[in-house]
Amino acid sequence: MSWRSHGKDNASLVEALRGNEILRSASVANAMLLVDRGLYCTKDGGRAYVDAPQAIGAAATISAPHMHAYCLELMRDHLKPGARCLDVGSGSGYLTAIMAHMVDGGGVGGRRGKATGIEHIPELVEESRRNARRDPKTAPLLESGALELLVGDGRLGHAVGGPYDCIHVGAAASEVPAALTEQLAEGGRLVVPVGQEGETQNLCVIDRKGDGSLATEEVMRVVYVPLCSKSHQLDKRRWM
Ligand code: SAH
Repeated sequence: MSWRSHGKDNASLVEALRGNEILRSASVANAMLLVDRGLYCTKDGGRAYVDAPQAIGAAATISAPHMHAYCLELMRDHLKPGARCLDVGSGSGYLTAIMAHMVDGGGVGGRRGKATGIEHIPELVEESRRNARRDPKTAPLLESGALELLVGDGRLGHAVGGPYDCIHVGAAASEVPAALTEQLAEGGRLVVPVGQEGETQNLCVIDRKGDGSLATEEVMRVVYVPLCSKSHQLDKRRWM
């Protein structure tokens, strides 16, 4: 039921994802209800609630709602209040904002987590900060530092903020970057699309077990833009 969960507004989009059983848990649905996708689709706001990726500039897209929902469900047990998480290729900032709401959890039990987004196109980072700032429910998280949106090469992760309970990668890696598995905490989970550009890619879930070893599972076939150098991305002149 991918690609079919269209809505007229954010609430009906979340309802459609729930009806199609892509969204299965209250924790993910509630966080998605808090972050209006319309505020993060700045190039084509009219299609913000359609279940498809939308261009955000710099040859990048905000992923389709069903993909965000699938990934959040895969990460939900690792996005508990108090957790630390990293979103690589944070683009519009939409998914990082949802992750921030989940780990903040309104400060349940006094435990406040943190979500860091890392994105290599500075203009997109600026725009993602603007998006979060004009999102009334998310702006306080940006102000408090519970949500952080940084410029950087996500293939290197963000070691100073780690180790992470959860890492999401929003672009396809030809090989899983070693820095990302190294920055996974014990019991942590990495969700990453793996494969070459233009070829079939697999969404992989990589768990760091208690003994330090890694367990990898391929969950589904996917299509993502590549996790690459900035020049490779911009050289394509695919600015949308
Ligand atoms: N998850 C985001 C964006 C998905 S598109 C959203 O839904 O809005 C993938 C993003 O990865 C793009 O914004 C692209 O610029 C970024 N990206 C690609 N390679 C990267 C790298 N090496 N480091 C950081 N970001 C990268």
